[in-house]
Amino acid sequence: MKLACVCSRLAILLVVFIPHSIEAAPRRPAVQRVAATPYIRLTDWARTRGFDLRWLKKDETLQLSGQSNRLLFTVDSNDADLNGVGVRLLFPIAIRDGMPCLSQLDAQMTLDPILSTPRSRRGAAVTRICIDPGHGGIDSGNRVGSHQEKTYTLLLAQELAAQLTRVGYKVTLTRDTDRFIELSERAAIAKRRSADLFVSLHFNSAPNSANTVRGAEVYCMTPVGAPSTNARGEGSSAGWYPGNRLNDKNVYLAYQLQRSVTKTLSTEDRGLHRARFAVLREATMPAVLIEAGLMSNPSEGRKIFDAGYRKQIAKAIVDGISAYRRGTEQRGS
Ligand SMILES: [Zn+2]
Repeated sequence: MKLACVCSRLAILLVVFIPHSIEAAPRRPAVQRVAATPYIRLTDWARTRGFDLRWLKKDETLQLSGQSNRLLFTVDSNDADLNGVGVRLLFPIAIRDGMPCLSQLDAQMTLDPILSTPRSRRGAAVTRICIDPGHGGIDSGNRVGSHQEKTYTLLLAQELAAQLTRVGYKVTLTRDTDRFIELSERAAIAKRRSADLFVSLHFNSAPNSANTVRGAEVYCMTPVGAPSTNARGEGSSAGWYPGNRLNDKNVYLAYQLQRSVTKTLSTEDRGLHRARFAVLREATMPAVLIEAGLMSNPSEGRKIFDAGYRKQIAKAIVDGISAYRRGTEQRGS
């Protein structure tokens, strides 16, 4: 009697659970359009990745969490947080029929490459790094008082080259003196020297030299069909460039560097951004551009002009590159 009772309960459970388990199996999220941009429901995307979704503040902020990842989104905002790292989405989170939605491009071109590490072919190694000190010669870059950006990008590049060499990387610089190089030539140099990664170094400046803006941001190439997330809008065409070929690795490298730089330097996390900068458009290997701090912020500026702090920036970049290498390389031949 008791057994029969258990069996009948099991039968009920099966009836209830079998359809549910089929329902819960990952499916391709349905696509709908918000202002002509393809979007998918966050609940559908969360299910395909095994994430739980809950509102932290109803209709404002929501959290997706899985075994080892946590994402935070804000409705109507491009700012997302992935495991404590700022990621600027290509399109804002939208509400459609009462449901939060994520652009399909952000799912496929921004978040998936970070969550599912892009692997290199077996045996391929990251050994040669091309460092590009921003500006040079007649192009001084940003200026704060007598300080010129081109001076500090070169000093940082030289420190970074020394540290990378010490841990076994081969390093090549687009310039090792104060000379002008065309932007298009910089990516070409990296290609000619068979670099595995391209890292362009810059320091930012805000319009008002007394302002409080500070922090680091890392850029990688904007995907085809998406707007860039920086206001300068270089490379206005949304068409295809060589730098689009390696989107997944570009994003994964930018994420690892953004994470390492902001954690190591305890500075403000200004987020992973997208831009069609010339050096990123023409790159034929995974490429990023790092704005490692703001010269115009009095306290951050003082640090940037100090060799000890630049050593810390260089160390953070080395650690970010090594995290990228560990993630993407597959051992064996
Ligand atoms: Zn610059």
